[in-house]
Amino acid sequence: MAKETLGYVQMEWTCPFCGAKNPGTNKKCSNCGAPQPTDVQFEQAAQEKLIEDEGLIEKAKAGPDIHCPYCGTRNPAGATVCSNCMGDLTDAAARAKGRVVGKYKKEAAPDVACPYCGTMNPATAYNCSNCNASLRQPPPSQAAAQPPPPRRKMGVGAIIAIVALIGLCIFAASLFLRTDDVNGRVAAVEWTRSIAIEALVPVQRSAFRDEIPAGTAVGECRLELHHVQDDPAPNSEKVCGTPYTVDTGTGIGEVVQECQYEVYADYCAYTVDEWQPVDTVSQSGNDLTPFWPEPQLGIDQRLGPEQEQFEIIFDSDGERYTYTTNSVDQFTHFEIGSEWILQVNQLGGVVSVEPAQQ
Ligand SMILES: [Zn+2]
Ligand SMILES: [Zn+2]
Ligand SMILES: [Zn+2]
Repeated sequence: MAKETLGYVQMEWTCPFCGAKNPGTNKKCSNCGAPQPTDVQFEQAAQEKLIEDEGLIEKAKAGPDIHCPYCGTRNPAGATVCSNCMGDLTDAAARAKGRVVGKYKKEAAPDVACPYCGTMNPATAYNCSNCNASLRQPPPSQAAAQPPPPRRKMGVGAIIAIVALIGLCIFAASLFLRTDDVNGRVAAVEWTRSIAIEALVPVQRSAFRDEIPAGTAVGECRLELHHVQDDPAPNSEKVCGTPYTVDTGTGIGEVVQECQYEVYADYCAYTVDEWQPVDTVSQSGNDLTPFWPEPQLGIDQRLGPEQEQFEIIFDSDGERYTYTTNSVDQFTHFEIGSEWILQVNQLGGVVSVEPAQQ
């Protein structure tokens, strides 16, 4: 995120001794004359107008004010002698800077009534235009500080439902996991071996122009978001967050926003030749000597992935069980008529087989 300064605005502070609202640049209370204490923060004005006074802007940029170690008076950064007591400012402590005080209040705020005479005054006024009383900000509302509502406890019905669901899952799993031993005799075998045939086929793809292989014919393009970066670039759209005000420690706030650039680039359709399966050749048989098909390849063709599957059909007192394996080594042991012990699950599937003891 790149930070951008939109400008500078006057902040305010409230005198802790008399309650008067003061412009941020005032180092002493305009009502009672007390210097602003170190621990009294600058606040956001009701409406923030960008300052045009170059001198004030330079002050805001110069760094946070420093407090005189003898009388507490605020002095500008770089001052060596206190403007109030002429004290040495070598050991003066700087105010904190960088605190985000809130969203930039650009819009006009409603007028406020003077608490003493009722006269309406602009929200940005410090004193009543009629009676000159200090226009204090109303205390924050208490409504926000309510305790959160108590959390609802889980109902008994929900607990029963969860327990029942867990039970059902265990029951379903047991159907698959529990097996019975069954004696079976090999009645038939079948093997299938197949090889895919691949060919170079034109395929439609799309990608950003800079990712398309060189020498490829490019079709239709449209602008798409390519990436986001901090610096400006051609074909980019500037996207900024909500501006906010930062305390500079000088009584003047810096209004900043964080911006990024969404860079757009040509996203294009193109055609490229890729190896794709176009056919499958298979061999199958009912003996224990499987072999691979040997297809004749055409121009621009090649052999693709191979697949093999072996099926053994057992007879057990008239009951038929089918066992499937991908292992040719295992398959060649299933002589027709040989005896095996089958582990059969509750759904009739053969989970594993082992030779019966002679
Ligand atoms: Zn005061
Ligand atoms: Zn001083
Ligand atoms: Zn008034």
